[in-house]
Amino acid sequence: MTDLFYKEYPQYTTTMARFARIAIRYPAAKVFSIGRSWLGREIYAIGVGNLQSATCIVGGTHATEYYGVLGCFRFCEEVLESLESGTFPYDTPMGKAIGERGLLFIPCLNPDGLELWVGGVDTAGPLRTFVFAHCGGDLSHWQANARGVDLNHNFDAGFDIARRQVEQTGIYLPGPTKYGGPFPFSEPETRALADFCRLYAPRQVVALHSQGEEIYYQYGPRTPKQSALVAQMLASVGGYRVAQPGGTASHAGFKDWFIQETGRPGYTLEVGLGENPLPLEGFEGAYQKLGPMLAVLSIA
Ligand SMILES: [Zn+2]
Repeated sequence: MTDLFYKEYPQYTTTMARFARIAIRYPAAKVFSIGRSWLGREIYAIGVGNLQSATCIVGGTHATEYYGVLGCFRFCEEVLESLESGTFPYDTPMGKAIGERGLLFIPCLNPDGLELWVGGVDTAGPLRTFVFAHCGGDLSHWQANARGVDLNHNFDAGFDIARRQVEQTGIYLPGPTKYGGPFPFSEPETRALADFCRLYAPRQVVALHSQGEEIYYQYGPRTPKQSALVAQMLASVGGYRVAQPGGTASHAGFKDWFIQETGRPGYTLEVGLGENPLPLEGFEGAYQKLGPMLAVLSIA
């Protein structure tokens, strides 16, 4: 299933076209908006199978980490394709699993950030001057949303600890990375995802980031016991390493909040190996490891 979509940087227009294609082509897919970004771009989800107790896979939280966007779409399309053909990816009993406990995909949580990184400051509309002032003209490592808030530092889980840690690195203001916002859930993107999780109550969540080929599964005392075992399984399937995020990445992220709030499993997969932004030509190789891990999670 290699087509042009997986050989280019994803953008708002191309991802929107892909959602439309999926909605038209696969009757089993439920495509719907979970909310809008700060600049009003739609944040879409795709539901497949029984959504009462689904696995929720989120990509595109950090602007340059587009392997997560492409990986989310790719796995979703593989599953939808397999439901029609009856041949399931990686020889997993996917059809039965999804009928019982389905999948929810949110390929791009941060469409404004992705658009900024790919398309430059002119994509920021009314925030153009603001973004320019906070990036110094260089968007090559922009991870935040259009307001300069790092969405994976904006969740309500150890927010103040995360802020103090980030301030110790000299970051006090909006900018390309790590600024967590004025208060937890100050951003429409993180609020949309939290509301979505409250509504659909997924049985587990997976956040796709880059890079490092690492798996994180822990956050505080509510971390489910089985998560360690599942993380080990994923590691052996994908050749990743089970690890703990260090320093400024250890609080206020999506999986942290989900674990703290629900006591259910949350995982972060650091997709790919190298330096962000990872090269386009490396995506296929990275997906060969990611796909089987997502298949394992789908039936876990
Ligand atoms: Zn990230």
